[in-house]
Amino acid sequence: MTDTPRRPVAIVTGAARGIGAATALRLAQDGLRVAVLDLEEAAAKSTADAIGESAIAVGADVSDAAEVEAAVARVTEELGAPTVLVNNAGITRDNLLFKMAESDWDAVLGVHLKGAFLMTRAVQKHMVDAGWGRIVNLSSTSALGNRGQANYATAKAGVQGFTKTLAIELGRFGITANCVAPGFIVSDMTKATAARIGVPWDQYVHDRAAAIPVRRAGQVEDIANAVSFFVDDRAGFVSGQVIYVAGGPRN
Ligand code: NAP
Repeated sequence: MTDTPRRPVAIVTGAARGIGAATALRLAQDGLRVAVLDLEEAAAKSTADAIGESAIAVGADVSDAAEVEAAVARVTEELGAPTVLVNNAGITRDNLLFKMAESDWDAVLGVHLKGAFLMTRAVQKHMVDAGWGRIVNLSSTSALGNRGQANYATAKAGVQGFTKTLAIELGRFGITANCVAPGFIVSDMTKATAARIGVPWDQYVHDRAAAIPVRRAGQVEDIANAVSFFVDDRAGFVSGQVIYVAGGPRN
């Protein structure tokens, strides 16, 4: 069994806010050094500052290959070689299929799918060199199908296939790859959904929670906890899995 690198370096994408910020904070509490990556470095800095010395803020668009390569090189130089990657950055461009613009399809697949591919391709060499690595990709219950989200559901289902393939290809190097698939989580993303369909936020949370078996909305920390489990050294025999963190099987 290969030992975990001392104080591994993690990159969490889309970590300026929401699930990514909570995950960055949680991994730092677990003892990791964390690169907080988001589109705008200034936005990422608030999360990095909340963590303290063991974090840096990095600005990059995960769907841009050159920016991804430069960001990973910077993390390696300033924090150390990354051996933990959380592909969390995400966007929604919801619409019913007949009204969905080609640009909305491309944008969503570009961030979730191409972004996860580019980030993982750039980071995997450091994991292979270390003989140890953890990749955690954010999927969603929408992967099972969701009205108005043909682009997003496709991307989130694709993330699961991507993850299982990473598990098969990279397992021999001590690297695991798993998915966390959240259900309804309180975040800016779900606030935007409520606004788009014209339902007051409190009403939206109430209605969604009523349909969830554990009768509450998910919090960003619920997802951070699941990511933390997959990153832990003790989860080294768990790979290629999808864990739905949804207060039930699929809400
Ligand atoms: P969020 O609050 O909207 O945060 C997403 C973050 O990703 C933002 O900081 C955003 O930056 C960043 N981002 C967007 N495009 C990017 C790009 N090209 N490169 C780098 N960063 C980028 O979303 P969230 O609710 O925390 O969701 C996090 C992940 O969980 C996503 O993958 C989402 O699909 C998934 N998820 C969420 C829920 C939920 O209920 N919230 C459920 C299932 C799955 P900007 O602010 O600059 O746009």
